[in-house]
Amino acid sequence: MVNDFNQLFYQDSYQKSFDTVILSAEKYKNKNWLTFEKTCFYPLGGGQPGDQGFIQIIEEVDQNHQNGFVSEHKIKVLDTIWHDGVIWHQVSQLLPIGSRIHGEIDFNRRYDLMQQHSGEHIISGIVNRKYGYKNVGFHINEEETTFDFDGDLSWEEIENLEIEANQAVLENIPIEIYYLNKEEQKKWNFRSKIALDDQVRVVYIPNYDSCACAGTHVHSTAEIGLIKIINRESYKGGVRLTVLCGGRSLKYYQKLQTVLRDSTSLLSANLDTLLMSIERKDEEINNLKEEIHQKNNAMIDLIIENQILNSDNKNIILENNIFNKKELNYVASQMAKKIDGFVALLTKQGEKKYSLYLYSEHHQLKDNISLLEKNLNFKGGGNKNLLQGRVCGKFKDIKTILSEII
Ligand SMILES: [Zn+2]
Repeated sequence: MVNDFNQLFYQDSYQKSFDTVILSAEKYKNKNWLTFEKTCFYPLGGGQPGDQGFIQIIEEVDQNHQNGFVSEHKIKVLDTIWHDGVIWHQVSQLLPIGSRIHGEIDFNRRYDLMQQHSGEHIISGIVNRKYGYKNVGFHINEEETTFDFDGDLSWEEIENLEIEANQAVLENIPIEIYYLNKEEQKKWNFRSKIALDDQVRVVYIPNYDSCACAGTHVHSTAEIGLIKIINRESYKGGVRLTVLCGGRSLKYYQKLQTVLRDSTSLLSANLDTLLMSIERKDEEINNLKEEIHQKNNAMIDLIIENQILNSDNKNIILENNIFNKKELNYVASQMAKKIDGFVALLTKQGEKKYSLYLYSEHHQLKDNISLLEKNLNFKGGGNKNLLQGRVCGKFKDIKTILSEII
């Protein structure tokens, strides 16, 4: 975690751009990395992703290198990390050490991350005060934020938590930052996940939370916008919450409304009757499934009977285009019981290609494999009474060859 509190992003978390000089340039694991004399790119840490944005060379125009203009060529800053006390910027292209540059962070993205981070402090502060649970994990990604607590919360408790968190937003409370030395740390009561240094940065939201934190935050709770908890799942004996703040909540509600509008229209329902309509449809589908199942079984039995009647008690060779894999087994065994020969079910797989299910109750089939291989290019295997595999040829020709087996 960054412990140099003189960084630009700590002095002003709303600073979007800056001019500086490149101090080092390195290629590491196929990625390009630069360090600057100063930066307002926040590096990955404390659950908050590293900043993105771009840099541009400041072209020198006079001998004293006093004035310059920014080149039009923008080099992307893809990520920012902190390593061994240095902030590294992953860039799309390396630039010479000593170059003067202008840098701009993607502030819309950063502001969104600040909203999520400040929202996290409010939620974690309330959970800690009301239930005594600690936040043991916090991760913001590009779409949602997850918080892990070392104790469980029911949906009812979560709803109350949302109400209280959003009350903090409505109160428009200034978010204060304090830097505490060892002595001051003893007097303050604040949450902390990290081993404390000589100087600690504490983010203080009066009446709601006080927490050691190296992240960037909005100036006031009102800026966080709506705080919405959209999911809970059991996690390592505690609970993991998925939370959206600000613009993310709005996007979520817009998506939710589109789905609801389409669903209610499809089911001719409204918000109050939607669930009932879905349950009713579900029941209808299950009833229909059962009806189809019964009719299907009756139809299969009729086909079986009909084939047996026409078989003269000998072989049944049938081009199958209705039975699924599970039914093949049933059909073949039912037919085979009533005849002396075998049952061959051929399912078309392509031009002159069939899968073969060959079954007999009374005759060994395994001895016929080489014959089938020779005449029908059979590829497959089986046991005493059953052969399964692929054969090639026209149905008529396959039928002729199979008829010669027994
Ligand atoms: Zn924090």
